[in-house]
Amino acid sequence: MSELPTPDSTEFNNLVRGKSERGIYRVLYEHRGQALTMAEIRQTMGLEAGEQEHLNRRMRELYRVFIVERTRRGTETLYQLVGKRDHVLNTDGISMKVRALILKDQRCAQCGRTPMEDHVKLHVDHKIPQEWGGTNDPDNLQPLCSDCNEGKRNFYATYDEYADKIKEAANYDEPHRRIGELLKAFKGEFVRPDLIEIVANSKQYQDDWQKRLRELRTLGWVIDVDKRKEGKRFVAYYAAKHFEPWPNGSIRSEITRLEVLRKPKK
Ligand SMILES: [Zn+2]
Repeated sequence: MSELPTPDSTEFNNLVRGKSERGIYRVLYEHRGQALTMAEIRQTMGLEAGEQEHLNRRMRELYRVFIVERTRRGTETLYQLVGKRDHVLNTDGISMKVRALILKDQRCAQCGRTPMEDHVKLHVDHKIPQEWGGTNDPDNLQPLCSDCNEGKRNFYATYDEYADKIKEAANYDEPHRRIGELLKAFKGEFVRPDLIEIVANSKQYQDDWQKRLRELRTLGWVIDVDKRKEGKRFVAYYAAKHFEPWPNGSIRSEITRLEVLRKPKK
């Protein structure tokens, strides 16, 4: 363990780039002998309650560089800054072996450019971001060049406020379930279609996610559509007003079975 840098030092500013991370660190540093709840940290920073989820994620960033002791008090987690790590942890915690496996084709999974021909640098990307519950499992990893990686990161950042709801939905294997769980997470509120699309595609690309969504009705779900004017076009928002428990076996086969039953007999 190394000594803690002061919040204004150059050493600290080189280690921690994010504004929120720096703010959290300052509070923890100034209360070194104490364990604080996230609400206390937030209040000391002068932030609203709505910022809490954001702070939780930023706190996890600090763990890479610092040792923060976590203890429980009832339902609350308390945080106390203990020290600085001797070695900054890798952001992703992916082993060299897995990294080599993912990068072995030496080609960006999105634009197809290669280090040899196009002089791009390849990164190991999480298909479902870790903030959304994506794992380090090789199935969730892909090679992306710096441009594609950056583009994806910026695009996904616009959905950050929904991270916790996405997390509840994005990791199921079946597309119907991912879509359904996302709608459930919004508790009957209308959901932006681009967000549904991201979650529908999170594990494997869907040719027609709208169809998957409509098929939930076959299972007895009540899904409302609200066409909203955005700029010059109408955009369909969806809300689950009623949902049914998931079938025990495959959702796909249950839908097919019900569709066959409902077909009028000749
Ligand atoms: Zn690329």
